Amino acid sequence: MSRKKQKVKQIAREHIDLLVEYALHEKDDHLAAKQARQAKKIAMHQRIRLPYEIRQLYCKRCKAFIVPGRSARVRVGRAKTKAVRITCLKCGHTYRKILIWNKDL
Ligand SMILES: [Zn+2]
Repeated sequence: MSRKKQKVKQIAREHIDLLVEYALHEKDDHLAAKQARQAKKIAMHQRIRLPYEIRQLYCKRCKAFIVPGRSARVRVGRAKTKAVRITCLKCGHTYRKILIWNKDL
């Protein structure tokens, strides 16, 4: 891959991180969804695989952007599992999210 392409990808990644960050803190759901869609669009365009933490924020079924605690219902499972169940309030799809964010694992 050329150096220029790598640079473009790097900038795209930073852009995606920012958009997701904004979307998570955005109080307006429509705006948050728009920023989240934009982030995904950039990733697709640049063929960037979104990191796990970001992929978790999109509903697996309806692809909606999910803000835990707001557009999703979060249930903590049994104490030892270290996972929460997240229900997308847009389509009702439930999935598990592992709470350990240790990237060394
Ligand atoms: Zn959904």
